[in-house]
Amino acid sequence: MFSEELWLENEKKCAVVRKSKQGRKRQELLAVAFGVKVGVKGGFLWPPLKLFACSQISSLVRRAALTHNDNHFNYEKTHNFKVHTFRGPHWCEYCANFMWGLIAQGVRCSDCGLNVHKQCSKHVPNDCQPDLKRIKKVYCCDLTTLVKAHNTQRPMVVDICIREIEARGLKSEGLYRVSGFTEHIEDVKMAFDRDGEKADISANVYPDINIITGALKLYFRDLPIPVITYDTYSKFIDAARLL
Ligand SMILES: [Zn+2]
Ligand SMILES: [Zn+2]
Repeated sequence: MFSEELWLENEKKCAVVRKSKQGRKRQELLAVAFGVKVGVKGGFLWPPLKLFACSQISSLVRRAALTHNDNHFNYEKTHNFKVHTFRGPHWCEYCANFMWGLIAQGVRCSDCGLNVHKQCSKHVPNDCQPDLKRIKKVYCCDLTTLVKAHNTQRPMVVDICIREIEARGLKSEGLYRVSGFTEHIEDVKMAFDRDGEKADISANVYPDINIITGALKLYFRDLPIPVITYDTYSKFIDAARLL
């Protein structure tokens, strides 16, 4: 019994030592990443410095993830910067300098969370990789944002709806012409916004295929930038006149 207690006590001590060693190792890693020398005795980083090192590491990881992204489609996407008030000290993830001020110190991309100075935002490349956690909606969401967030070639709504339509609707008369009940179409839209790729649009839930075609057409109608973009619209009109 006595020896067991002694062993337990010893085990606890070892755990404490292990923990402090781990903490120390992390500190050293941060210091190396930041290029700071940590002294042998009690060399713990000043907390704001530690925060900076952390933000630098996360930024490096983000940039590494972008270059080694297995997204072969390689669309360019501009960041969606909005003025942001940061709590606590923050450093620009572009120039690595401090963001001065108490309010509106910089801008944050609402799609990927990149934090930079307002002046730096003009120089950041169009390499935004949206974070699925930040993309709340599927409908009314910019096309590039959605395909980049899901890492797909086409918006997943289009793929899922077409798969369903081709599986059970090809013999239905007036496909894509006949409209389904608006309320049910709105239901499908809500299901996609809520459940994403897991949305259930099977025949059990929506037996009428015109609801699915309606939901697909609504997706295109709701795009903030149409498939034929505003920039290219006049070129398409000019091309049509040539015929
Ligand atoms: Zn972004
Ligand atoms: Zn900056």
